[in-house]
Amino acid sequence: MASNAFQPIQGMSDLDSPDVYLWQYVEKTAREVFERYNFGEVRTPILEKSKVFLKSLGDTTDIVQKEMYSFEDRGGRNLTIRPEGTAGTIRYLGGLGEDGLNARVYYMGPMFRCERPQAGRKRQFHQIGVEATGPANALLDVEVIAMQEHLLSELGLPGARIVLNSRGTAADRKPVADGLRAALRPFEAELCEECQRRIDQNVLRVIDCKNENCQKIVDQLPEMREFMCAESRAYLDEVIARLTDLGVNVQYDRKLVRGLDYYCHTVWEIQHDALGAQNALAGGGRYEVTIGNKNIPGVGFALGVERLITAMEAAGIKAEQFVPKAGVWLVSLGEAALNTNLKLIQELRKAGIKCGMELETKSMKAQMRKANRAGAHYCVILGDDELAKGMAVLKNMEEGAQSDVALTDLVNELKK
Ligand code: AMP
Repeated sequence: MASNAFQPIQGMSDLDSPDVYLWQYVEKTAREVFERYNFGEVRTPILEKSKVFLKSLGDTTDIVQKEMYSFEDRGGRNLTIRPEGTAGTIRYLGGLGEDGLNARVYYMGPMFRCERPQAGRKRQFHQIGVEATGPANALLDVEVIAMQEHLLSELGLPGARIVLNSRGTAADRKPVADGLRAALRPFEAELCEECQRRIDQNVLRVIDCKNENCQKIVDQLPEMREFMCAESRAYLDEVIARLTDLGVNVQYDRKLVRGLDYYCHTVWEIQHDALGAQNALAGGGRYEVTIGNKNIPGVGFALGVERLITAMEAAGIKAEQFVPKAGVWLVSLGEAALNTNLKLIQELRKAGIKCGMELETKSMKAQMRKANRAGAHYCVILGDDELAKGMAVLKNMEEGAQSDVALTDLVNELKK
């Protein structure tokens, strides 16, 4: 058991080989898919002024109330390590003026939430997200959801389920909240303690409360969309119809609310059964984010990379498939060969060949053992005799066959 001194902070992980190769595959595929839809990458700072999140996420949300890593820096500034990617991205886009109001960007990187760590819930986790700014347009929501589904199918992940609902417009917010509140009042005493508070503070969160009894009550309530205006209901129908046209399967879920205050119209989640209790692979929605004096509309999603990897592994997609091929190992018999190999390995690497060697003189046996451990496909064996002739022995490690090759031909020979 490693001593505590070598452990990362609870809820955070080191990532190494071979797992990291599956991550790289996911990231590379995401970049390729997003570029096809004309989304470009942005990299915003991980640390932001706290107000970037306080104002945009809404101060009754779990993230803002309980989960942000916030602190005052040495200059007395209130800062937060980003718990999600939308607020910072919109802050950046807002600063671009007109261009930022009609942009398509994606990001990937670590997010930080001070939650109680458990399976599928970490304090440092990673998201791949996109944001498309622009006024409410059902077709843009459709394009973003279709792109997300495209990414999952490109990654070869089966079994992902897209569930979708509407939060209506800003103008619907009050009638929806009032309507739900009125419908809930007769049951108030039966709700869990937290939901009794939520009725007045944040009634939408009663809808997705995990408590079984609260759920039974919610089942008897009218659907949120019944309190929305006709336009909002038509918007939702349009999104579902156009996605169906594209062959993207979505399920309407009357209980999906999503935690953040900035959502309006379409909200969705992608769920996967391989994930257990924390079954959300990704969340998304249309929003109006307030930063400074601007209110910026857009639509976006964030996919949890750890959970995506868990689902992929459960589907039999293994990191080992993506480990780079092992390449060549140089074996040096004696000091002179070691020095020659040092030059040779540089040449091979510059020619694009992956290779390794021992950097001190060791026995042939020890060096071959290392070559095997590295999984080398070829060994280049160099001793005083070979050096004198300007030759090396090239050994095919899988077949065992070996041949003499002139040192001057070696790069070309190995490139073949
Ligand atoms: P959210 O911003 O909460 O909608 O999260 C979007 C996605 O990020 C979720 O669907 C998860 O896949 C992932 N995610 C959120 N919180 C965590 C966490 N604490 N640990 C691991 N993944 C998370």
